[in-house]
Amino acid sequence: MSELETKSPGNFIRQIIDGDLKAGKHDGRVHTRFPPEPNGYLHIGHAKSICLNFGVARDYQSGKCNLRFDDTNPHKENIEYVDAIIDDVKWLGFDWQDRLFYASDYFQQLHDYALELIKAGKAYVCDLTAEEVRDYRGTLTEPGKASPYSNRTVEENLDLFRRMKAGEYEDGTRVLRARIDMASPNMNMRDPTLYRIRHGVIHHQTGEAWCIYPMYDFTHPISDALEGITHSLCTLEFEDHRPLYDWVLNNISIASHPQQIEFSRLNLQYTVVSKRKLTQLVDEGHVSGWGDPRMPTLAGLRRRGYTSSSIREFCDRIGVTKAENSVEMGILEACIREDLDRNAPRAMAVLDPLKVVIENFPEGETQQLEAPNHPKDEGMGKRTIAFTRELYIDRADFREQASRKYKRLVTDGEVRLRNAYVIKCNQVINGPDGEIVELRCSYDAETLGANPQGRKVRGVIHWVSAPEGIPAEIRLYDRLFGHPTPDGDKGVRSFLEHLNPDSFKVAGNAVVEPGLAQAEPGANYQFEREGYFCLDQQDSKATRLVFNRTVTLRDSWQKIDRQKG
Ligand code: ATP
Ligand code: MG
Repeated sequence: MSELETKSPGNFIRQIIDGDLKAGKHDGRVHTRFPPEPNGYLHIGHAKSICLNFGVARDYQSGKCNLRFDDTNPHKENIEYVDAIIDDVKWLGFDWQDRLFYASDYFQQLHDYALELIKAGKAYVCDLTAEEVRDYRGTLTEPGKASPYSNRTVEENLDLFRRMKAGEYEDGTRVLRARIDMASPNMNMRDPTLYRIRHGVIHHQTGEAWCIYPMYDFTHPISDALEGITHSLCTLEFEDHRPLYDWVLNNISIASHPQQIEFSRLNLQYTVVSKRKLTQLVDEGHVSGWGDPRMPTLAGLRRRGYTSSSIREFCDRIGVTKAENSVEMGILEACIREDLDRNAPRAMAVLDPLKVVIENFPEGETQQLEAPNHPKDEGMGKRTIAFTRELYIDRADFREQASRKYKRLVTDGEVRLRNAYVIKCNQVINGPDGEIVELRCSYDAETLGANPQGRKVRGVIHWVSAPEGIPAEIRLYDRLFGHPTPDGDKGVRSFLEHLNPDSFKVAGNAVVEPGLAQAEPGANYQFEREGYFCLDQQDSKATRLVFNRTVTLRDSWQKIDRQKG
């Protein structure tokens, strides 16, 4: 069974569906949809909804899931977002087959259902301004007042609605409203707006065909019903809209009646998952774009080096409930760490190079050493790495003096070079300002794959051949925010104050082992002792390799979280 065929764990929604199937509801069908609005890129919160909707379709016999663009706000939407969403859902591993729809496909039908409501006296054209509508609506504790226009005759309403559609009125001068109950304790039922006027926007699907656009609460139930959706899964903020969802379907001539079920949104610590806030980060230049590797968008996570299977695993792990909570970033990071620990080949990269000269190794000679691509998986094969007289090690792996706890290289001390020999540092060469520029070392030719005779060498450090290694830029990404709930902190004026100034650093003079010249864009590696990295899909060139740090080897934030918590 391929990974994509494995079932997701049970949850309350699957229990409801099981019950419905037993009871023979919805003709025994299971049909869901994922309905993004193309007004931004998909983020990790959407992944939860995608995995839920497409996962249900996958796990139930004859289950289906539609991808539907909820595109009724043309002034905020565009085709770039449509394309990005399509790519992201595919990348996440799901397939809608021939069931890609747009709510705008239904503009004519929606209009005709609006006419039905008008003819039944259940909708009217209202001339109140937006502000007046708000005043008339009342509050949570006070009932609303009827609009002075709510008693227009059917003929008058039909005529006004026709003229709204014909473009005779300006934006904001009239709306079509449902006539329900201005005294309802549920504010959504106090004569909600069904249609508004929008001139001067070119809709990415329908162009200039329409100047009236239906509202979400009217569009959504009808789109669901037209597509034969059985279970319309949405986030909890729509719970109060469910009576309106049902009202719309109960008051038009549509047979199908999908059932809306709400679950809690994903909130993820150390980031924000709201398109509005993500848009702000992009527009104000706090990140390089929607696909910035620090963004919680699927495009950003992908560029950062997250695999789609790690994100599906994350969604399975967090589960689906009605409880609002904020998930630890550590859970997402653990999913990618576990995936890459298992599946990423190992390689060596020196981020901050310090030259080492092996004085007893012949000049100009290259010895090809073998190294396993994975310490626990022989099936991943072996590679060769060049050993030469001049090498680089990381500056952090040498100290002139150190206590015995420091298990790396010290003057007159020995250390093992990973996959190679034990070396000893004999002399430190300093530059004019006293900085260390080179280490003179010697190697023990008897220690390749063997312990040295008569002494113990405990430390192991990574290295790269100086003449054979390839220069690279390594981008060190970290969490975008330094606070677990940047948008939940009342102590600051804006969530932007919690941006982590250290979320992006560059190791510009890194050197990587020669085999990485063949790395494919996006390919994941563990750089031994450094973390998990991938070849950047956008900026890496044959002449200048660029790697992104996906995640460190261990969770260094846990300590910080504990101190704060
Ligand atoms: P945002 O508030 O970020 O704009 P949205 O809900 O307006 O999100 P849509 O494009 O309308 O974004 O969402 C498409 C689907 O994804 C909806 O069914 C929505 O409920 C779901 N969704 C959006 N954000 C989350 C989240 N954080 N967790 C779970 N599901 C989400
Ligand atoms: Mg929305």
